[in-house]
Amino acid sequence: MPQRACQRPVFRFAPSPNGRLHLGHALSACLNFDMAAAAGGRFLLRIEDIDQSRCTPALEQAVLEDLHWLGLDWELPVRRQSDHFDAYRAALDRLAAEGLAYPSFMTRGDIRTWVGAWEDQNRRPWPRDPDGARLYPPVDRQRPESERRALMADGRRHAWRIDMERAIAHPAGPLTFHESGDGQTGLIRAEPARWGDAVLSRSDAPSSYHLSVVVDDALQGITHVVRGLDLFAATDLHRLLQSLLGLPEPAYHHHRLILGADGRKLSKSDGSTSLAALRAEGRTPSDIRVMIGL
Ligand code: GLU
Repeated sequence: MPQRACQRPVFRFAPSPNGRLHLGHALSACLNFDMAAAAGGRFLLRIEDIDQSRCTPALEQAVLEDLHWLGLDWELPVRRQSDHFDAYRAALDRLAAEGLAYPSFMTRGDIRTWVGAWEDQNRRPWPRDPDGARLYPPVDRQRPESERRALMADGRRHAWRIDMERAIAHPAGPLTFHESGDGQTGLIRAEPARWGDAVLSRSDAPSSYHLSVVVDDALQGITHVVRGLDLFAATDLHRLLQSLLGLPEPAYHHHRLILGADGRKLSKSDGSTSLAALRAEGRTPSDIRVMIGL
């Protein structure tokens, strides 16, 4: 197992304050809290607010209130990702210096157009990643360094992406992770290539979820990542980044998702299952635990 001997287990709940917490978040938060308590471990809260256009201080405050209402408490200080953009930048610079990351200039519209033309010509679908998004075309990866520099010097908006072909040639041996959750369990083989040239730093934010989550899990000494099954596939990418950056490997536990009446994953935009709405209806924290099957 990845866990190091004699170390107190460290768990974390890592919400993004871009809406009110719902029952799915309650499951994740309570499960982390309960598992930490059962293991005699520590429980941390991390605010994942790299998307500064959607995350607000008021929503962050509401997240803390909802979690306190549920009866949870956590160690202080709380790590807020927007306070640590320099740490993510340093990780990106390291990957770029090793030739494993490159600046990418295509907009969503450019990608759609390029893929559409490719599909018309080749009469088969261009590959999609596990979330269903089109893999990033090879256009910018093949761009000569001089052109990249000129475009950046020109002030062209760009993201940074992993050069997946080079990155997967890097790790020594196959990548795996230990999984104990509600889907597949045991030693899982990671297949990061299915994500293509994933984003490491966005054009509108100085990092991406994938990069900041692995940097923070390592910096905070997280030994157990407990989160929803919707992030199971992303673990492939996280294991690759951990390997490239020389970061330790946590154990993973991806839990079942709470589905809405329509059978779909709950979303923050549907207020009816928000903890705030349920509380206003008179539900108690114990009712919430029953509703989420704990
Ligand atoms: N911030 C992510 C979310 O709210 C969770 C990330 C994680 O647990 O790795 O979905």
